[in-house]
Amino acid sequence: MSVWIFAEQKKEQLASISLELSGIGRQLADELEVDLAALLVGSGVEPLARELIFRGADKVYLVEDPALRRYQASTYQKVIEDLIVRYNPEIVLFGATTIGRALAPRLACALDTGLSAHCVDLKVDKSKRQLVQVCPFFDHMVTIVCDSRPQMATIQLGVMPTLPRDDSRKGEIIRVDPEIGPPDVEILSVEPVKQEASGIEEAEVIVAVGRGVKDFPLLQELARLLGAVVGATMPVVDAGILPESYMIGQTGKIVKPKLYIGCGISGAGQHIVGMQNSEVIVAINKDETAPIFEVADYGIVGDLHKIVPALIAALKASQA
Ligand code: FAD
Repeated sequence: MSVWIFAEQKKEQLASISLELSGIGRQLADELEVDLAALLVGSGVEPLARELIFRGADKVYLVEDPALRRYQASTYQKVIEDLIVRYNPEIVLFGATTIGRALAPRLACALDTGLSAHCVDLKVDKSKRQLVQVCPFFDHMVTIVCDSRPQMATIQLGVMPTLPRDDSRKGEIIRVDPEIGPPDVEILSVEPVKQEASGIEEAEVIVAVGRGVKDFPLLQELARLLGAVVGATMPVVDAGILPESYMIGQTGKIVKPKLYIGCGISGAGQHIVGMQNSEVIVAINKDETAPIFEVADYGIVGDLHKIVPALIAALKASQA
């Protein structure tokens, strides 16, 4: 019985989600009074095993092979499935990253168990040894428990606590010789995708643009005056107004600015989950029943195309 995390790494560096999974995994393992084990798969990644112990793991299952250097769905699935069958963990957590979102469903299917996607909170019901998983589902937060084992979840990025590094922590590194099947895809070359960096994750002020915005340059002007970065909801990205790196939410980025101003945004759960930890939330929406007002510190009901010009004029006057 133990709690497992899939410790994602890229180019022999731990991904930030691996530290977040270590943090929440440690909490769950302590509550269940079991070990926290990290599953580290790759090639030349042994130094990361020690780092995972410093970050909270009691054990690291280290699976190394040149064929595992890059993520490959079929090879990674086979290796991890064999380990889960052999060691029988109660809980297995993955990051809701590109890799985690591809790998976890394949494993859940192969192991005939359930999977909760994009969890933003995890607790345990100790009496039933059940993982209580909270995730957004359309406009609601839902709580999910799973009767089959292992209990599996992917975890939203940026929402779980990380532990401070403690290099006095001791743990066990268990080297596993993998049985690697033939890959189902042959990778000939890997080219990085050139993506425009939005800077929304580090931004102190964000002007977020929703489907209700018809005059995008107006919002850019407000952002410029506030020294803010512009963010977006999914429909704005889907319409090609801003690239995907600007999207806030479950599929997009998790942001924690000092000030978030949402304009023409309804407040769907998938968006809220990405901005609800902002220090001050201001919402402008013509519909007073819009769900975004439930998380807003300040709400302005009205047509944003009249309100934003008034804000711009006031800012210009104060700056003059
Ligand atoms: P709408 O919901 O259409 O809201 C537009 C709002 O603008 C309305 O409330 C309206 O009253 C207001 N409005 C219109 N005109 C004006 C005006 N003149 N002045 C003032 N207010 C006005 N969405 C995300 O944002 N991020 C995600 O990461 C994300 N991930 C998703 C993942 C999944 C699996 C799914 C199913 C959906 C996801 N979505 C995500 C989409 C999400 O469910 C919503 O559809 C989306 O957030 C709605 O965007 P919106 O608020 O801009 O548009």
